[in-house]
Amino acid sequence: MTVITRFAPSPTGRLHVGNIRTALHNWMFARANGGKFVLRIDDTDPERSEERFVDAIRADLDWLGMTPDAEERQSARFALYEARFAALVASGHVYPAYETTQELDLKRKIQAGRGLPPIYDRAALALDDDARAKLEADGVQPHWRFKLDHDSAIAWDDLIRGAAHFEAKTMSDPVIRRADGSWLYMLPSAIDDAEMGVTHVVRGEDHVSNTALQLQMFAALGVTPPRFAHEALLTGAEGKLSKRLGSLGVDHFREVGIEPQAVRALLARIGTSDPVEPIADAAPLIAGFDFARFGRAPARFDEVELAALNARILHTLPFEAVAERLPEGMDVAGWEAVRPNLVTLADAADWWGVIEGPIAVEGDIDAAYLDQALAVAGEIDWSSDPWHALTARLKAETGRKGKALFLPLRRALTGRDHGPDMAALLPLIGRERALERLAAR
Ligand code: GLU
Repeated sequence: MTVITRFAPSPTGRLHVGNIRTALHNWMFARANGGKFVLRIDDTDPERSEERFVDAIRADLDWLGMTPDAEERQSARFALYEARFAALVASGHVYPAYETTQELDLKRKIQAGRGLPPIYDRAALALDDDARAKLEADGVQPHWRFKLDHDSAIAWDDLIRGAAHFEAKTMSDPVIRRADGSWLYMLPSAIDDAEMGVTHVVRGEDHVSNTALQLQMFAALGVTPPRFAHEALLTGAEGKLSKRLGSLGVDHFREVGIEPQAVRALLARIGTSDPVEPIADAAPLIAGFDFARFGRAPARFDEVELAALNARILHTLPFEAVAERLPEGMDVAGWEAVRPNLVTLADAADWWGVIEGPIAVEGDIDAAYLDQALAVAGEIDWSSDPWHALTARLKAETGRKGKALFLPLRRALTGRDHGPDMAALLPLIGRERALERLAAR
């Protein structure tokens, strides 16, 4: 069996961190099993779907390194839905209903008043042909409901939640098609999962009751259902479902200097029993991917944790991974010198400015000591490890050590009191610039 997963966003907005996490897990599970990861654009609603969001979804997945193996669009599959729908109507699994929204509201109010659950009473099923013909002659267009089988148990073994069980009797027959002929999400999704050979549906636990309904749709369609994994939802750092999560997406991550590898490494592990680790490569994350390690408690997404992970991941990235985004002229040695001090990649340009100059030195300068340093710097061998040559001689000559030995030099040579290892920086600053900086008063 080839594993096939699908990520099925509606192109009605940008992806947010919650969708990205679902996409990631679908992608990882497919990769872990040598399977296929399909992007399915759920664009049955022409009013709300926009092409720019389809483009943005593709671009976001590419940026995250999760390019799909195939793309499908629901808007290209209406003929299929129509055919399956007709068959389900013919077999009595789907029936027309004529209540208006107001009538349905009223029914629910009455049920609530009697302390009953708001389950659709199937009044439409009691209509005979004459009654239906009359309603239609009066211009009432039906919407369509899927008739749940109250007698068969709904149960599945969820890859994350374990044994799941629902009573069909406690659920309303779901509306699957509106009076204007447009589709609700539920049936086309089940048809597609079956037709596309999706083996594993990985989605948020907000879909658990949809799964119960869709399992009966798979049965009515006469197909074997996929396996399901419903993941606990994402919460903000404060542990609550946060509005902010809905607006955090790839644009924001890019803006604040978050690398795709950091997004991946974090979202792969939060909510699981594995620790969040600075793993830049996808392969080790994929190799350890296992639904059994997912917890039932909400996963906490913390931007501060992401930023910290991002820095740790940057510190591991090889030159080739970032070369085209580095400042003009920065080479491997430059990258390796500044890398441990980066919070975001953009900081590399600041450090490159420190290396190339000009720099501005603020704070006290120790002129007599710098004069001495200038003299030594003029004499040492610059071809290998000039920093150690310089500081060893100054130490011997002045008896200085620690901060008194190093800080005035760092400040004069970089304009800063903190930064990358001077042994790595000084060869990049070079003899000429170093002498100039030591002489500047
Ligand atoms: N388009 C649906 C959604 O975004 C897909 C849900 C599913 O994965 O089945 O909620």
